Amino acid sequence: MSSHLFTVQDEIKTAKFGRPHVVILGAGASLAAFPNGDRNGHRLPLIKNFVEVVGLTALLAQNNVNPPYDNFEGIYSDIAIDPDKAALRSDIEQRVYDYFAALELPDTPTLYDHLILSLRPKDVIATFNWDPFLWQAAARNYHFGKVPCLLFLHGNIAIGYCPDCKVMLGRHQHCSRCGQPVAASPLLYPVKQKNYQSDPAIAGHWRTLVRALEKAWTITFFGYGAPSTDVEAVKLLKNAWGDVEKRNLEEIEIIDIRTEEDLLATWEPFIHTHHYKIGTSFYDSYIGRHPRRSCEALWARLMECLFPEGTNIPANADFDELYDWFQPRIDAENGT
Ligand SMILES: [Zn+2]
Repeated sequence: MSSHLFTVQDEIKTAKFGRPHVVILGAGASLAAFPNGDRNGHRLPLIKNFVEVVGLTALLAQNNVNPPYDNFEGIYSDIAIDPDKAALRSDIEQRVYDYFAALELPDTPTLYDHLILSLRPKDVIATFNWDPFLWQAAARNYHFGKVPCLLFLHGNIAIGYCPDCKVMLGRHQHCSRCGQPVAASPLLYPVKQKNYQSDPAIAGHWRTLVRALEKAWTITFFGYGAPSTDVEAVKLLKNAWGDVEKRNLEEIEIIDIRTEEDLLATWEPFIHTHHYKIGTSFYDSYIGRHPRRSCEALWARLMECLFPEGTNIPANADFDELYDWFQPRIDAENGT
């Protein structure tokens, strides 16, 4: 039997894939990463508790927007198309921006650090989230193993953009090429007709994602609920992934706490027959079980009929222990 095993040692020394693993993050991923909120206990909202968590209840009530407040997308969409509510709209946007801008990573490694460390620079993480955690986690781990390509599909609080040089940087940095202060990335708010072309930075992120999906060997959807105001986004993703009939070897993975029935209703257009895997925890996913080797492990299983043994990221380790654990994988990638 052992000859049919793709062992952890095999996995560590096999870093041959050039095709990307594309990961799409939604609000459920940030909630899973920060179940108790940020370092100061500020909570991460989902759509159904967004108004309450971000603190918009009183503002809405004062402006004659009646409860229930459990659908921020619907509420915001209605306000955005009403010219009499322009002042309220800008008040809401400012408060939302300020709420997310104040969020800070805890000092200890988080699920987002584990996610960043478990992918290689050839891979792509595209997030719909506005919170700064993915960017902050990438910034603090970059020195160790580089980081995957990060894309912010609805804008992000942590990033800025130099329109002249067309580069993405941290929000408070100066452009590394021309030296001018960067422009903040606008947040794309939940209206039904989103225009992904109106902001050049966001349009660029979408173009990069489309190219990555065309080459991708596998996709993971993590905590992304594909809300109704994202029809355009889902259409773009689907077009880029292409015809499932021609994708007969690739497999997609869904990490989500919703029921399988509910998830398949959303993701069926992406799935070729039985080539999908559903789980509730990142740590049991392909990436979590085969850090920096998810595509290689999937290849071994699907193409070489091997059984990938898999491993567990030391989820409670501090940064020194975590880097020691990852070091053999980085060494193999560098040929050292
Ligand atoms: Zn510049």
